[in-house]
Amino acid sequence: MKIYNTLSKKAEDFIPIEKNKVSIYTCGPTVYNYAHIGNLRTYVFEDFLIRTLEFLGYEVKRVMNITDVGHLTSDSDEGDDKMELGAQREGKTAWDIAKFYTEAFFRDFKELNCQMPQFTPKATEHIPEMIEMIKKLEQKGYTYKTSDGIYFDTSKFKDYYKLMGKSHIEGLKEGARVEFSKEKKNITDFSLWKFSPKDKKRQMEWNSPWGVGFPGWHIECSAMSIKYLGQPFDIHAGGVDHIPIHHTNEIAQAEAANEKPFANYWIHGEFLVLKSSEKMSKSSGNFLTLSSLKDSGFSPMDYRYFCSQAHYSKQLEFSFEAMESAKNGYNHLKNSAEEIISKTNEMEPNKNLKHYQEFVKAVSEDLNIPKAVSVLWETIRDKNITEKEKLWLINEFDKVFGFKLTENAEEEIPSEIIDLVNQRTEYKKQKNYQKADEIREIIKQKGYEVKDTPKGPKVKKI
Ligand code: AMP
Ligand code: ZN
Repeated sequence: MKIYNTLSKKAEDFIPIEKNKVSIYTCGPTVYNYAHIGNLRTYVFEDFLIRTLEFLGYEVKRVMNITDVGHLTSDSDEGDDKMELGAQREGKTAWDIAKFYTEAFFRDFKELNCQMPQFTPKATEHIPEMIEMIKKLEQKGYTYKTSDGIYFDTSKFKDYYKLMGKSHIEGLKEGARVEFSKEKKNITDFSLWKFSPKDKKRQMEWNSPWGVGFPGWHIECSAMSIKYLGQPFDIHAGGVDHIPIHHTNEIAQAEAANEKPFANYWIHGEFLVLKSSEKMSKSSGNFLTLSSLKDSGFSPMDYRYFCSQAHYSKQLEFSFEAMESAKNGYNHLKNSAEEIISKTNEMEPNKNLKHYQEFVKAVSEDLNIPKAVSVLWETIRDKNITEKEKLWLINEFDKVFGFKLTENAEEEIPSEIIDLVNQRTEYKKQKNYQKADEIREIIKQKGYEVKDTPKGPKVKKI
């Protein structure tokens, strides 16, 4: 497989550290609010990546953290902790906020059919590991103390800019970090440990060799990824916004502390943008969530299909019109798959089929999911392959897409409807067609449709 590595700025052949195995870390959510659909695009992209690696035969070990402390409102180490702000906003404790939004996040994650990572460590449960890492950095002379915390001196780390590349550096100086504290030695220095404010009691704070406080956001990811995956590990992924600060700092800490490379491949997903070019921001409070999409009549699968329409390295513009056409596309796909399943439930594997090979090529070339989707469409339209081959292809491709194309639709049908369908089948057996039709009508009024197929009745939501 070829992947574009942000570190080398090139598409490279993917060579794992251990044959046929992949260790991957993806930055998880900061759980102070619901995930917005921009965040969710990144998780869907990462899920396509994981599923592709598995499809290509790798055994994947994935870690996705939960940031439940330490992510400040400003990237320049100023401002409040987003968790504590969330607590103030909702009149709950920071711990309750974390629990509530972690659960909400995993609900969205599962509804989008994203596969659960093997490890989902919480930052608040890994404070000792972070302290150990900061101690190592201190011993090696990378840290200094200011009035508000322990900082990493980026001028001491050779190659600090290697991930972001030269083009980012000027922007950095003028942009995001202008408001930097006078006590910092360099504009790019960042906090490893922040002291609790003297005048205010924080809800989340811990003892440390430097005083009571809480960890910086970046140290969380370095400490937790190394704990579960070792160093180096294969792939680190996340959204493009993290290249110049968060991921750059993760590398600096990990490589300075342990004197070896941190992660071999860095893969970054581009942003979902709104048509009006407004930034989708979780902290502004005004954003679209999976629930708001559902309220507007779109299913999580419609959104997943929408995400498959653009290459992960390209921005994807959100609009309700575009969602509408994604919904139509997805329904068409699902109906086509159901039609094939109504004719056969047998699959005929054939890896020599042109479509199979094209699909493998598409996903192997830097995760070209839009191209892979077009192969799926060609497969569905192809009249020269058998239904059994088609079903096998769709089933294989859906291991990567996760569109639930061959899942039994009846699984999601309420038991009340299933009972009605069974009653109708009974009446049909007794040749009481009038009663059977009446029940079909009741089922319809409840929002479902029954179709008779050679394999028995099929029900689906209208
Ligand atoms: P957060 O919960 O804010 O830490 O962000 C979670 C993930 O969403 C990170 O990997 C970000 O890079 C990513 N992200 C944030 N905004 C967007 C967006 N508009 N489009 C795509 N990904 C985003
Ligand atoms: Zn991270």
